[in-house]
Amino acid sequence: MRIAIDGPAGAGKSTVAKKLAQRLGLTYVDTGAMYRAVALAAIKAGISCEDEEDLARLVQTLKIEFGRSEDGETAVYLDGQEVSREIRTPDVSRCVSLVARVPVVRRYLTEKQRQLAAGSGVVMEGRDIGTVVLPDAEKKFFLTASVEERARRRFLETARDGYNVTLADQIKEIVRRDTFDTQRKVAPLTPAPDAVVIDTTEKSPDEVVEMILAQVQGG
Ligand code: C5P
Repeated sequence: MRIAIDGPAGAGKSTVAKKLAQRLGLTYVDTGAMYRAVALAAIKAGISCEDEEDLARLVQTLKIEFGRSEDGETAVYLDGQEVSREIRTPDVSRCVSLVARVPVVRRYLTEKQRQLAAGSGVVMEGRDIGTVVLPDAEKKFFLTASVEERARRRFLETARDGYNVTLADQIKEIVRRDTFDTQRKVAPLTPAPDAVVIDTTEKSPDEVVEMILAQVQGG
């Protein structure tokens, strides 16, 4: 069973996909974390987030892996070092949708994502899972929510993590990322024709998980 969960930032994909994977005993794969790891590596190497050639070279040298941290959460490793927190900084969030426009970066990560799905059942979340990475996934969902609600969720997360970002900043950031993600030439953010679209604006993560489970278990 391969379940694709796509949608824009703040639509609730990660929370829902993790819970769903747990309930169904499937592997959870966060593809956004892989793009974030490339963005982090670029920042560390002093490479511009807009330098296609350098980014294309860089991505092929990186080892990006998933594992478990001590508290049982999914952990992300870049060249053997855990970067689970570092990939969530506002600097990386600003850089990542530029990096994700680069065709070689996408080709390379898409291949890795397909390999991750080849071995076992997965709940894979991202922007292009149902359309490009796993077009033949058994079940596809596209989560959406209003810009205000998505920014509010991200604002609460960044405040909790101790970053000094205002709600107005967060709205700007979400709109900027939506624009890059929906308008890029390669694998733009769009629902697959056979995806079930769920508006999560007024729903709790558990309600969304139950809606998806009903679809998955209903055949
Ligand atoms: O899911 P998350 O918000 O962490 O993703 C960060 C960024 O990575 C997205 O804004 C998008 O630019 C990129 N991304 C992508 N394709 C995916 C997953 C993420 O382009 N499958």
